[in-house]
Amino acid sequence: MKVSEIMTALEKKYGHEQEYLQAVREVLESIEEVYNQHPEFEKAKIVERIVEPDRIFTFRVVWVDDKGEVQTNLGYRVQFNAAIGPYKGGLRFHKAVTPSMLKFLGFEQTFKNALTTLPMGGGKGGSDFDPKGKSDAEIMRFCQAFMLELWRNIGPDTDVPAGDVGVGGREIGYLTGMYKKLAREYNTGVLTGKGMTWGGSILRPEATGYGALYFTNQVLKTAGKDIKGKTIALSGFGNVAWGAAKKATELGAKVVAISGPDGVCHIPDGITQDMIDYMLVMRSSNRDIVSMMADKFPDKAFFTAGKKAWSIKCDIALPCAFQNELTGEDAKELLANGTWCCCEVSNMGCRPEAIHEFQKAGILFAPGKAVNAGGVATSGLEMTQNASHISWTAEEVDAKLHHIMSSIHEQCVKYGRRPDGTIDYVKGANIAGFMKVATAMLEQGTI
Ligand code: GLU
Repeated sequence: MKVSEIMTALEKKYGHEQEYLQAVREVLESIEEVYNQHPEFEKAKIVERIVEPDRIFTFRVVWVDDKGEVQTNLGYRVQFNAAIGPYKGGLRFHKAVTPSMLKFLGFEQTFKNALTTLPMGGGKGGSDFDPKGKSDAEIMRFCQAFMLELWRNIGPDTDVPAGDVGVGGREIGYLTGMYKKLAREYNTGVLTGKGMTWGGSILRPEATGYGALYFTNQVLKTAGKDIKGKTIALSGFGNVAWGAAKKATELGAKVVAISGPDGVCHIPDGITQDMIDYMLVMRSSNRDIVSMMADKFPDKAFFTAGKKAWSIKCDIALPCAFQNELTGEDAKELLANGTWCCCEVSNMGCRPEAIHEFQKAGILFAPGKAVNAGGVATSGLEMTQNASHISWTAEEVDAKLHHIMSSIHEQCVKYGRRPDGTIDYVKGANIAGFMKVATAMLEQGTI
């Protein structure tokens, strides 16, 4: 396999799908050498098969807004790869959603889910619906209209959606309610991220952020550093940023920045518990502005319009918002300010140029598919609880999450150790995830 040849062929076919091509290139560049040591992969054309989704559903979603006007959106579900288990992955509601975005996310999800050690394939879905400024009633009507189409293609043992950007507990509630009504199936295992009293797993809301901090902590420990007292800048203020801020603070780090599409809030003394709680209010307001924090806590948080979290001096940068949110220029700014670690919490949060800058500077860097896998891993734990009609305690779930994040870290070390002893987490995560999916595909024949 030659990455350049595969990429040329894919670019010809999918030239306009930039995010998808970026995600595929990153994985193929990491695995090229190992792949070529396995002639059985080459013979079975594993790479040519693994980069294509099993299938993509596209559907129209029609709903009525509060003014009585009819609105039309597009809905999608990308069932990417089921070699390891049922399709599993979130739904993203965001105005920029395209098939390219969901293909990149489904591709990443396939390897991430493989890393969790749980039997889950990869999928992703969503809509170009923009939750910003929508009322609760509009959100509910949209979710119901979306599920009216999607329900036939999902199920607890076929495809299990969850949340992602723009889809949290409230949306999962409306989606699940409609699914039950349509399918007349009351096994609660068809979506994850559900409410605690109706099949949700304790700690699922916190899990992505908590898992990311457990992983970051291990990256630091392996490099002989301690997270206590370190400053952290994180982007976003949604569910993932919230969990990350909570656990980072609990571990003794100081979160000095959060950001939004409108700008950054600098929090020189570190975020406090009441500010962390207020992040939830900010998200559910659907206003999508971080300046709300500075309005609420004027003597603790200082807002600058149009600036990113990466303009604030910090030891550790944690992108928690959207793909490609950290550019090569941002990386240079962080490095100039002394940042020595970046763990991607968002999916593909860093542009390839940014990763290149970090690796060139020799700072610690870990990719999203390893760092943020605690979210989907806890979804996997929710599926297990649902299937066996039990619920575990917070301690039980947390212990399992810890164990899974450690095992992901171990896999990264196994495949990513450089000759000088340092760890290339990008290579480690990509090779470990790929080997599992590729081997499963090989063992299941040419299908
Ligand atoms: N959207 C999350 C992710 O990117 C979670 C998916 C899930 O829980 O299925 O991994």
